[in-house]
Amino acid sequence: MSFVQRTHWCGDIRADHVQLEICLNGWAHKVRDLGGLYFVDLRDRTGLVQLVIDPETLGTDEIRSESCLSVTGIVRERDEENKNPKLSTGEVEIGVTGLSVLSQSATLPFPVSDEEQMRKVNEELRVKHRYLDLRRPSMYRKIALRAAAVRRIRGFLDDEGFLEIETPIFTKSTPEGARDYLVPYRLDPGLFYALPQSPQQYKQLLMVGGIERYYQIARCFRDEAQRADRQPEFTQLDLEMSFVHQEDILALTEAMTVAVVNGLIGEFELPKEPIVGFTRLTHEEAMERYGTDKPDLRFGLELFDASMIARECGFGVFTSCIEKGGSVRGILYPGGARLSRKEIGELEGIAKSYGAKGLATIARMVEHGDGTVDLGDGTFAKGSIAKFFSVEHLRALFDLSAASVGDLVLMVADTRKVTSDALSRLRTVIGGECGLRDPRKLAFAFVLDFPLVEWNTETESWDPTHHPFTSPKHEDLIYFGTDPARVRADCYDVVCNGYEWASGSIRIHDPVIQARIFDLIGVSAEDQQGRFGHILEAFSFGAPPHGGIAPGIDRLVMFLTDDENIREVIAFPKVGGGYDPLMDAPSAISQEQWKELGLSPSRRAADASATE
Ligand code: ASP
Repeated sequence: MSFVQRTHWCGDIRADHVQLEICLNGWAHKVRDLGGLYFVDLRDRTGLVQLVIDPETLGTDEIRSESCLSVTGIVRERDEENKNPKLSTGEVEIGVTGLSVLSQSATLPFPVSDEEQMRKVNEELRVKHRYLDLRRPSMYRKIALRAAAVRRIRGFLDDEGFLEIETPIFTKSTPEGARDYLVPYRLDPGLFYALPQSPQQYKQLLMVGGIERYYQIARCFRDEAQRADRQPEFTQLDLEMSFVHQEDILALTEAMTVAVVNGLIGEFELPKEPIVGFTRLTHEEAMERYGTDKPDLRFGLELFDASMIARECGFGVFTSCIEKGGSVRGILYPGGARLSRKEIGELEGIAKSYGAKGLATIARMVEHGDGTVDLGDGTFAKGSIAKFFSVEHLRALFDLSAASVGDLVLMVADTRKVTSDALSRLRTVIGGECGLRDPRKLAFAFVLDFPLVEWNTETESWDPTHHPFTSPKHEDLIYFGTDPARVRADCYDVVCNGYEWASGSIRIHDPVIQARIFDLIGVSAEDQQGRFGHILEAFSFGAPPHGGIAPGIDRLVMFLTDDENIREVIAFPKVGGGYDPLMDAPSAISQEQWKELGLSPSRRAADASATE
C-alpha cells in the first residue's frame, strides 16, 4: 500500500510551522464530531496534535478511535479561546486537506486514550492487548526510558573497556536459589537443558578465558513464587571483571549508577533529585538498625534494642522472652500517640503476620488521664504495659527511642528473626503513613559483608546466602570448620528505596576452596563432578581472581517511574503464575510433539492435546 509518509512528528508542531503544509502519520487518539467539523487528536510516539476535518470534503465515516491515519494539511494558529496550554502543540491545529485511513480499528477492549479510565482496567486484559496498552503515552514513556537506560549503561561500560558478550540460553542448571525452567532435548529423550537463572558460570568461564571485562544485558529465568517486583523472566545487567578487588567493583557500580541515573533524570525530566553517591552498611549493621538487608534509607526511624530496660521491668512477657535468649526491640511512630485503638490494632496485625505474638505500645504525652504514669517532667506515659515499668525505665525507654511528646513507642519481644521481620515491615508502614518515603529521593546503598551461608531449618543444611561461587573472606576461613555461620563473604548488594537492586561478589577462583564450599552446602563429590566439573576443571588452568555484579534493569526503571509493579516496565510481561495472556502461553503441545520428545503427558495435558 502506498501512503504519504510523515514530514513531521505530531508532538513537534509549533506556532513556527503556521502556514506550512505538512504530512503526519499516526493514530486517531480522540475523535469528536462538533456539528459539521471533526476534531481528531492525532497521536504518534512524540505526542498529540489536533486535526480539523471538514467531512463534506473528506468523508470521515471511517475515522474511529485508534484507526491508523496518514494526513496532509496546513498548520494554523488556533483561535485564542481554543488554545490549550496543557498540550505542547496546543497553540496550533492542522487544517486537513488530504486523509487516508491506513488501517481501521475495531471496537477497543478498553479506552486507550483515557488515562483515568485505564487505571481501572483489569491488568490481564491490558496485557492480553498489550499492543494497544503500549500506545498510551504513559506506557511509551516507560518503554523509552528503559531503552535509554540500557543505551546509557552500554555507553558507560563500552567506554570502560567492557565487551558485550552473549552467553547461551540453552544450558545447564546454575543455582541462584530458584527452580529451573527445563527444555526437553529431542535427540536424546530424557535429557533437558535448563534456562539460565543467571549467566553466572559463563561469565566466570569468560574470565578464565582471558576476556577480563564482560557485560551482557541478560535475560534470566527463575521458577519461583511470583511477587509484584518479580517476573519468571527478567533482565539483569550482568558484568564481571578480572584482577579486581571488591572495592574496584563497588567504585565502578557507583560511578555507572550515578552517571546513568542522573542522565536519565535530566533526559526524561523526572521529578527526582539527582543522586550523589551510595551509603555503605555492613549486613550486620543493616539488620541491627533496620531489621532488613534491604532498608529504605530515604528516612531514619531506626530500630532500637530495649532488652536491657525490658529485662528489669515487671512485664512477664518481656522478661521471659529475654531469659529464653530473645530480645525486645522497638521502633518509634512519630506522632503516633494520636492513633486510635483500631489503628494500633492494625499495626499489631501486621506484626503478627510476621510471626510476632503481639505488639506492646507506650505513648508519651502531656495529657494526664486514666492509666497514665507521671514522668515528673511534665510528660506522661500511656499504654497497656506502662504500669510494669518504673519511672526511670520509662524515661530510659523514651531516651533510647528518642520519643517526644505525641510519639508512640512500639515494641516486639521475640527472636532476632521475628523482631527484625516484624519491625522492618512496621518501619515501612510508618514511613509511608508519616510521609517519609519521599518519591523524589533515590537512596542507593551498598550492603556489605553478608554471611557466606545460612542454616536452612527445613532441609537442616547450609545454604549459600548468594550463590555457591561467592568467595569467603580470607580472614574468616578459620571459622570454616567450626562455625560456618561466622564466615563472612566478599559479597555485596546494592539496595534502593527498600528494594534489592543488585547482587555481586568476588568469586572463588581456587578449585580446592570451591570444592570445600560445595562440601559445606551438601553437594556430594559425585554431584560436584556431574553438575560443576566443568568449572572446577576450568579453575585448574590458571584462573584469574575475579568478581562482578548484576543490577536489575526492570527494577531500575521501576525506581525511576515510581512503579511498584514490575509488569508496568516490561513490554510483554507475564501475569499470575507466569502466564502470558497475549500469546496464551504456556500452551498444550500436540501428541506428535509429545512422542518426538519421548515424554508422556500428564492426564490434563493428554486431554488437551487429544482435542487439538
Ligand atoms: N549471578 C548473581 C545474581 O544473579 C549476580 C552476581 O553474583 O554477579 O544474583
